[in-house]
Amino acid sequence: MKILFVFAHPEPRSLNGALHDVAIKELEALGHEVRVSDLYADGWKSEIDRADFPTLAPDARLKPAAASGEAFAGNSLTADVKAEQEKLLWADMLILQFPLWWFAMPAILKGWVDRVYAYGFAYGVGEHSETRWGDRYGEGTLAGKRAMLLVTAGGWEEHYSDRGINGPIDDLLFPINHGILYYPGYDVLPPFVAYRVDRLDEAGFAAVAERLRERMRTLGSTPPIPYRRQNGGDYLIPSMRLRPELGEPDAAGFALHLNGAGAAGQPMQNQNPPASDRTRYSV
Ligand code: FAD
Repeated sequence: MKILFVFAHPEPRSLNGALHDVAIKELEALGHEVRVSDLYADGWKSEIDRADFPTLAPDARLKPAAASGEAFAGNSLTADVKAEQEKLLWADMLILQFPLWWFAMPAILKGWVDRVYAYGFAYGVGEHSETRWGDRYGEGTLAGKRAMLLVTAGGWEEHYSDRGINGPIDDLLFPINHGILYYPGYDVLPPFVAYRVDRLDEAGFAAVAERLRERMRTLGSTPPIPYRRQNGGDYLIPSMRLRPELGEPDAAGFALHLNGAGAAGQPMQNQNPPASDRTRYSV
């Protein structure tokens, strides 16, 4: 496989840096081809501003989505953004690696998404009609490829469990997994999360590293999170609400978007996991 890491930690000698090396060594030993976008080392510019749209008239009002679409269509996006898009098209598998900062990704990585995911590339793709709402959520430019998060967190695993005070980790990561990765088409693998890492000793590091090696060995065979496909018939158009007959009657929130039976009661490609697994995908 061709694998792209987007790495977001400012210190190569960090735990994240060490786990990055572990993962790449394992993947290369398995014969995979690996490329890395090291955002801090590369001095990645994280904010969208006028400099992103060199052909925009100086007196024109900046509308980021419209400017993005025009620049993508006119091939006038900046060279750094085009290079990242080329890497995304090259890779069969994308791994976003970051420490959890304020229950989210570091700003530099969010800025990578904001700038690289141009209109026409990652959103604004496909036709709208009575039966389709564009190519997104399982369809789109990056369909057929896999993606996964590699995350470290200071908090305990229990704090991120179903009744944990931080909220379930799969809920916290849903906007990234579903909103950023599934949206442009990726099949999203369960995230790799290392918890309680701030005082990790050598034995703890060895255990995390081995767990990570195992995940790297199974990247091609791990089943993706069974999100429902937008255009598979499960959602009403144009409200984009899940059909009332689907999902548990009282269910609400993120777990509703995990696949169950199809609109006509027919099983779809990915079946619901057992109820006990349904709210937990991180491993
Ligand atoms: P490092 O600090 O580099 O390392 C952590 C420990 O790992 C070290 O002390 C060491 O014991 C061990 N280690 C490192 N490298 C090795 C090695 N090669 N071999 C053996 N042991 C090693 N946590 C949350 O859970 N939720 C949050 O919302 C959250 N918000 C944060 C916001 C900010 C701004 C910051 C700075 C931290 C936050 N944290 C949060 C904690 C953060 O997630 C962790 O500090 C981070 O994940 C640790 O990763 P690191 O690579 O920076 O670790």
